[in-house]
Amino acid sequence: MTTHTTRMLILGSGPAGLSAAIYGARAGMEPIVVQGIQPGGQLTTTTDVENYPGFREVIQGPWLMQEMQAQAEHVGTRMMWDTIVEVDLTRRPFRLIGDSGEIYVGDVLVIATGAQAKWLGLDSEEALKGKGVSACATCDGFFYRGKKVAVIGGGNTAVEEALYLTNHSPDVTLIHRRDSFRAEKILQQRLFANERIKVLWNKEVETFVDGGGIAGLVALELRDTVTGELSRLDVEGGFVAIGHHPATELFRGHLELDADHYIKVETGTTRTSVPGVFACGDVMDKVYRQAVTAAGTGCMAALDAERFLAEADFEKVAEAAE
Ligand code: FAD
Ligand code: NAP
Repeated sequence: MTTHTTRMLILGSGPAGLSAAIYGARAGMEPIVVQGIQPGGQLTTTTDVENYPGFREVIQGPWLMQEMQAQAEHVGTRMMWDTIVEVDLTRRPFRLIGDSGEIYVGDVLVIATGAQAKWLGLDSEEALKGKGVSACATCDGFFYRGKKVAVIGGGNTAVEEALYLTNHSPDVTLIHRRDSFRAEKILQQRLFANERIKVLWNKEVETFVDGGGIAGLVALELRDTVTGELSRLDVEGGFVAIGHHPATELFRGHLELDADHYIKVETGTTRTSVPGVFACGDVMDKVYRQAVTAAGTGCMAALDAERFLAEADFEKVAEAAE
């Protein structure tokens, strides 16, 4: 069994992990990135990316992630094809075990394991993902300029996405399975004041209706959760906004998580409840969830980690001198 040792161990190869790697490598921390089961992260599951700064032309998500990885490797990052299955955060250096059985030891640990959108679990939803069905209005809303769209959900995300979509669409329907939202009141007030949005209460999506050929989504078949009655709503975009699963199962009982299972960090930093462990990207951010914000917090994690190691090294030297 091989043991891989580094100053800076990074879990996750999305924009957060790779940005942490670029900064960490340039600071001489010789990072190791354990890529996980989705090398390149969520952006590898999409096509057009139009909001990552620096590119006037539309770029492709998988291409962007290849470029980030190439840059990280170019400055000295080692990429590992493995997934961490066990962690020990009780003492430094931290010791983690991969699915391969290999051991990873890091003086500091950066967690960038991301989050995955929750889906309704319908076959028709799966079939139309990327063809009218999306879980990110900020990412895909622009593609539905002037078209009728619907958002499914009743929390902050759903209300924010509905409000955001009115920038592009004159006709947004918010569909919720109950007769009241759990979103904050201030967001609800904004929603109800917006003439471009209508709310359908007590409705669940039964089917995302495929128009066939290149048409993609053309309508939603809805079921009333009280009466069972079926109805149809013509839309070209359907945004599922029913929450996300942060990839934090591995850290339960090892790190402080919030009520929604996101890793808790000290405000304005990436420091977690365990000194020497830092978290960045969607695994600690349930509000912004964008590639550029994930990259930004990845940079913060590397800078926080570098400072932590400098202080720890200084303390060691001071102790030895006493
Ligand atoms: P992720 O990209 O989720 O990466 C997580 C990484 O962690 C993966 O590499 C995974 O393999 C790894 N991992 C997980 N568990 C383990 C483990 N146990 N061990 C090792 N590694 C592990 N944002 C935009 O800004 N613009 C867009 O146009 C856009 N479009 C999108 C389209 C789609 C379809 C989706 C799903 C998202 C889109 N986003 C977009 C959002 C953006 O992709 C995310 O905000 C961003 O990828 C988050 O980056 P991250 O590095 O935090 O996590
Ligand atoms: P959420 O608060 O968990 O809300 C999920 C919504 O989706 C709920 O209304 C739920 O309905 C509905 N839902 C869940 N499963 C469903 C299903 N299978 N079919 C139909 N509807 C379903 O998730 P969120 O809105 O993503 O927010 C998550 C956390 O992030 C919250 O703490 C939120 O406050 C926070 N957040 C904050 C901001 C901000 O501060 N600006 C922005 C976004 C998110 P029920 O209500 O019936 O359960």
